[in-house]
Amino acid sequence: MKVICIGRNYLKHAEELNNQKPEEPVIFLKPDSSILPRNQAFIIPPFSNQVHYEVELVYKIDKVGKYISKKFAHKYYSTFTIGIDFTARDLQAKLKEKSLPWEISKGFDGSCFVSKTWLNKTDFNLNEIHFSLLQNDKIVQQGSSSEMIFSIDEIIAYVSQFYTLKIGDLIFTGTPSGVGPVQINDELEGYVEKEKLFNLKIK
Ligand code: ZN
Repeated sequence: MKVICIGRNYLKHAEELNNQKPEEPVIFLKPDSSILPRNQAFIIPPFSNQVHYEVELVYKIDKVGKYISKKFAHKYYSTFTIGIDFTARDLQAKLKEKSLPWEISKGFDGSCFVSKTWLNKTDFNLNEIHFSLLQNDKIVQQGSSSEMIFSIDEIIAYVSQFYTLKIGDLIFTGTPSGVGPVQINDELEGYVEKEKLFNLKIK
């Protein structure tokens, strides 16, 4: 399986990192080895002094497809959750400065955290899913799918021109503003609407 991620999909987040509003979805991948095993803490890797949290809505593909039109994209997923796209921001900044691919700053081991609780899409208005992240009981990120520049269906249509989508693939749909660094002993908690979907310890 693969993890497909969208960058700069919320205007305020693009602006907080001094990026332009994208004309087309910004795509990068995380390898399957980046997935943080269940019930493990996130361990800050030795190569970074500035690992940021990015809470995101995550969709799971449950049907194989290529060249999927936006109109039919909704047939390719039935559940979603939230996860964290951990990013070694210092490493990413260095790579971006040299116009090099930032892959390692976002695809390192453990950088892909996904809640184990999946939600059924039919229970929600997908155009307005509210979600938030708390760091040590303080709200640090709040977003709604209504603020996404590219919707999940537009992302699927765009991505499937290049990559065949397979069962079990995950799509991270971008993070709202408020990203920031994690510290050892932090406790992160993620919510969709009023429901708590995860807590995660940082070590
Ligand atoms: Zn992200």
